Amino acid sequence: MRTQTQKAPTLALILPAYNEEEGLIQTVVKLGQIKDRLLAHDAIAEDSYILIVDDGSKDETYKVMKSLQSTTADIKTVKLSRNFGHQNALMAGLQESVASSDMTITLDANLQDNPDIIEEMVTKYRKGFDIVYAVRSNRENDTWFKKNSAEAFYKFAAWLGVELVPNHADFRLMSKRAVQALLSMPERNLFLRAMVPRIGYPQTTVEYVRGVRKAGESKYPLKKMLAFAVDGITSFSVKPLQLLFYLGLVISSVAGIEITYTLVQKAIGDPTAGWSSLMISIWLLGGLNLTAFGIIGTYIGKIFTETKARPLFYIEEEKNPGLNRRFTMKQAQ
Ligand code: UDP
Ligand code: MG
Repeated sequence: MRTQTQKAPTLALILPAYNEEEGLIQTVVKLGQIKDRLLAHDAIAEDSYILIVDDGSKDETYKVMKSLQSTTADIKTVKLSRNFGHQNALMAGLQESVASSDMTITLDANLQDNPDIIEEMVTKYRKGFDIVYAVRSNRENDTWFKKNSAEAFYKFAAWLGVELVPNHADFRLMSKRAVQALLSMPERNLFLRAMVPRIGYPQTTVEYVRGVRKAGESKYPLKKMLAFAVDGITSFSVKPLQLLFYLGLVISSVAGIEITYTLVQKAIGDPTAGWSSLMISIWLLGGLNLTAFGIIGTYIGKIFTETKARPLFYIEEEKNPGLNRRFTMKQAQ
């Protein structure tokens, strides 16, 4: 277990925000109340803060952030130079806050992640847990499709050997050393919910009832969700590549039977009878070939992006007194 210090830990609440002008104020007000409660109980240090990362919003999100910051002392803001995506925005927030916090909690900027369980998460941290996953206990607010596709995804991912905490998204608490471990992973294809469990250290979960989005619309339409799922699997499992090999063996055996059948047909003098099997073979093998190429291509694409090792984000503007102590790998060791 982590060694405990007497001093109350500094908490950084990290909110990635992309076009969240409608729900941001409400979220920050609610988080402010929770923070005050924690402060009153001496559960967190005075210098705890909320860090909002504007992920290249096209609406007035950044304006709202700046006005919040001008009226509230404990709010820090970072503006990325363009939209880098939810996962990268989270990494930006973690990197910016790791040096000036003892623990971080990442959550959606729209009150979907019920902040009422933050106190419970902090309690778990103080008991010595490094990572606390918030797990949703309900999915009533989801559509039939989202609920079932999520369930199928968790089962499929588990079968492929991808370690995930079911019904946990990116609402989680991490200790400083857990964040440092995460930041030291060099990969570009981010799927944080599978990366974090790999860190190790004492981990636990707390349950919460996930609410409906208070304002704005989901930034994860079906297309993005599918891409995210494929990305998650191909970043963490090589099983699809191995499956190709077995599939190849099965298809080759079928081809063996086919060849025997064709030869027999020819021997008994009825060669035209093979037309249907020929058509089936061509299309089936063509399809399987393309699928196989597709799977290999997906992995090669990843090797391509990983070898380029491009930065995950660029910051355009940052107004955070005291937040600029940079995290370096030296500190992590
Ligand atoms: N988000 C982001 N960049 C993006 C998409 C989303 O920073 O490109 C933020 C978004 O503002 C929210 C969180 O990531 O705070 C999760 O997105 P959202 O709530 O839309 O996803 P959902 O909960 O609907 O799956
Ligand atoms: Mg959300």
